[in-house]
Amino acid sequence: MSPAMEPLYEGKAKKLFATDDPDVLRMEYKDDATAFNALKKAQFENKGKLNKAITLLMYQMLEEKGVPTHLVADVDEVNLHVKKVEILMVEVIVRNLAAGSFSKRMGVEEGAEFQTPIVEFSYKSDDLGDPLINDDYARELGLATPEECAFLKKQALIINDVMTEFFLECGMKLVDFKIEFGRGSDGKIVLADEVSPDTCRLWDATTGEKMDKDRFRQDLGGVMESYEEVLKRLSEARR
Ligand code: ADP
Ligand code: UDP
Repeated sequence: MSPAMEPLYEGKAKKLFATDDPDVLRMEYKDDATAFNALKKAQFENKGKLNKAITLLMYQMLEEKGVPTHLVADVDEVNLHVKKVEILMVEVIVRNLAAGSFSKRMGVEEGAEFQTPIVEFSYKSDDLGDPLINDDYARELGLATPEECAFLKKQALIINDVMTEFFLECGMKLVDFKIEFGRGSDGKIVLADEVSPDTCRLWDATTGEKMDKDRFRQDLGGVMESYEEVLKRLSEARR
């Protein structure tokens, strides 16, 4: 690993580097935090380390449950090796309880439970603010075929079941989350990007306290303390 190497890509929370293997990338988790399409920005010491560790643990758990992911190997405190994939420009959101943009858009009180989880698609475009789309939009915009959309929805619901159960074991409610998928060189679609308190809403199952990026979005304080507590609970459950 050459430290002087330029990233292939630098995003809001991570950097991607080439490796000796053309099918493998090094993903570096940064300490930068953004919210509201990067209108709000901050840096949190240890955030990269915590989100890398949480994603690694979640991906290992998901792989054990039969969910294919881009994970290749752990590298160091802030780096993972991942399969290089072509990211589908469709972000998949699963909601178990009303919160965030759903509550705002629909006028539904935060915390209202859905009988059955909601799966939502949005177009991965920072310029457009990740607008909500459906299968027809995805087809006409060339983002994903109807078959791929059906697969994404099915896979997202499986991932929701597995993660909901695991987080509950750790004393946390999985309120909602965003995931991304990518197509590997073998054509298979796998779970990619990250699973962390940046991308999942997690509430303490007993007190209801927010343990995710909403602490930053809503200026609740103790952001990294919460991420650390999430990692601690997940690590204990994995022991
Ligand atoms: P953003 O691009 O939204 O600012 P990040 O800072 O998290 O987000 O950057 C990581 C980028 O890497 C994202 O655009 C994500 O879609 C992409 N990505 C995630 N996993 C992979 C992968 N396995 N191969 C290629 N690209 C990936
Ligand atoms: N989310 C994300 N990246 C995005 C948009 C949403 O990780 O670009 C996550 C967010 O953290 C939450 C879930 O997806 O866990 C649903 O987000 P929502 O649509 O409510 O949007 P937000 O509240 O972020 O505006």
